[in-house]
Amino acid sequence: MRYTIPGHESFDIETLILDLNGTIAIDGKLIEGVKERIDALRGSLRILLFSGDTQGTAAEIAKELQIELRLTPDAAAKAAEAQTLDPQTCATIGNGRIDLELFKTVRLRILTIQVEGAHPQTLLESDIVTTSILDALDLFLKPKRLIATIRK
Ligand SMILES: [Mg+2]
Repeated sequence: MRYTIPGHESFDIETLILDLNGTIAIDGKLIEGVKERIDALRGSLRILLFSGDTQGTAAEIAKELQIELRLTPDAAAKAAEAQTLDPQTCATIGNGRIDLELFKTVRLRILTIQVEGAHPQTLLESDIVTTSILDALDLFLKPKRLIATIRK
């Protein structure tokens, strides 16, 4: 997906990196509505799950979503995995402190504030903040929403 945004250099996003707990899952369970959106985005983005797997359900959820899982036990591991994916063409959606170095590494960063809350340092490294993962994923399905938020 190519983004041309007033006040910014154009950029391409080819990969979407998702956090699991607090972002697409709550208490280890996938949030309703995520799967449909992943299915809708799969043709235009490569989608991966990076997770510290706090709740032990990462493999099950990755299988359900038919996306690749990379187990990333800490913040440095998330950033290191992103480095293998051409980070200037990556977007990410996350919420926690474990996502901070990843947010500092990739091109487009969306932070969600849902029932687990969000880490303030990670928030300060984000481009967009939403209160729902469904709204965050919809930014990729309806790119004019994304453009409206980050244009200068
Ligand atoms: Mg999280």
